[in-house]
Amino acid sequence: MSEILIRNGRLIDPKTKFDEAVDIFISGTKIAKIGRNLGLTEAKVINAHGLIVTPGLIDLHCHLRDPGRPDEETIETGSAAAVAGGFTSICCMPNTEPPLDNEGVVHYVLSEAARSARCRVFPIAAITKRREGKEITEFGSLVQAGVKAFSDDGDTVADAGVLRHALEYAKIFGVPIMEHALDKNLVHGGQMNEGLVSTRLGLTGSPTAAEEVIVARDLLLAKFTNGRLHICHVSTKGCVDLIRRAKQEGQSVTAETCPHYFALNDAALETYDTNFKVNPPLRSEEDRQAIIEALRDGTIDCIATDHAPHSAAEKELEFCNAPFGMIGLETAVPQVIAELIQKEKFSWMEVIAAMTVHPARIIGEHLGVVKPGAVADLTIINPEKKWRLTPERIQSRSKNSPWLNKDLTGCVHATIVGGEIKYTAE
Ligand SMILES: [Zn+2]
Ligand SMILES: [Zn+2]
Repeated sequence: MSEILIRNGRLIDPKTKFDEAVDIFISGTKIAKIGRNLGLTEAKVINAHGLIVTPGLIDLHCHLRDPGRPDEETIETGSAAAVAGGFTSICCMPNTEPPLDNEGVVHYVLSEAARSARCRVFPIAAITKRREGKEITEFGSLVQAGVKAFSDDGDTVADAGVLRHALEYAKIFGVPIMEHALDKNLVHGGQMNEGLVSTRLGLTGSPTAAEEVIVARDLLLAKFTNGRLHICHVSTKGCVDLIRRAKQEGQSVTAETCPHYFALNDAALETYDTNFKVNPPLRSEEDRQAIIEALRDGTIDCIATDHAPHSAAEKELEFCNAPFGMIGLETAVPQVIAELIQKEKFSWMEVIAAMTVHPARIIGEHLGVVKPGAVADLTIINPEKKWRLTPERIQSRSKNSPWLNKDLTGCVHATIVGGEIKYTAE
């Protein structure tokens, strides 16, 4: 049985509210002991002095493009990017080719993950067959096959009647419906956020209302059905206000945002760099501030990446023809450090909770905690280290990051999944 001793790292565990420098002893797949000066000489030692040790990070929302687009990403390359970014568990969205709308494709993802993934992979299945928004998939057999939630991500469930049934049906199986909230008729070909910047740049705008009308509708339906609703990639102040009010009224809604919505605003589009083209779009500075406040007061529960790999050939098209999305697994930790911890003075406890215990609760997994007997999924972060995101360094098969060739602060030193070191910086 393999043994690892993580020596003298600052363990930050939001679930047990622990924040102290300690040794962590891992035996086999589990955490065996936590304490001071654990003198275990047989074990492999990781010197974590000056480093931060957290429960393994969990990403609720990424795109692995497998099956369908191995030129952009596979389960193997996507999970390599995940562990390089400190993620020990990732949830993959079902808008693959073919989509994850039946047990066969779910079995493929799980067997491919068992064969080649460096981290845990939890599939999310489509809400509707072929993601057409019409006929609900076989929730029961999909949950039995191992999916943790349902989403038609990439598209909104436009038909309120279909969403109502999905919420009712998912409730039976105790899983959430994850909504990609954007009303197609309001987006209407929008390339970026509708506002002063879009007018100046002459690009078609996608209004904040496109996101908010869907969130408002979904909250009403979740209340009506008493179903479990999770709002994906929240980007606007209006959405934050709606979710905050629903939570104040006791509704069990959850929400995520992504690093780009608290790190960037729509002024970034002035470069016409298609790596800033995402869906929902980067919003105004006022929206960005509201996202930060929503993370601070817990209105938004989780930080997810919405890692969306695209080939260089596609991203090099003219702005209006380039696809939406940016990769994010390998830059989430430095963005959280720069924007939330350094600029906004969040505590490590707050941000780590949004990347571990909160997402674990949403998918109903006993992960995201560091205590004796728990699964040994751990992330070791070097918060000071400066590095550059070069194409060679990126583990993802796609390189569509707005931080490409930029200097970043804070990197992942090591990632341990089930007691095995799956990534080290050196
Ligand atoms: Zn989406
Ligand atoms: Zn997505």
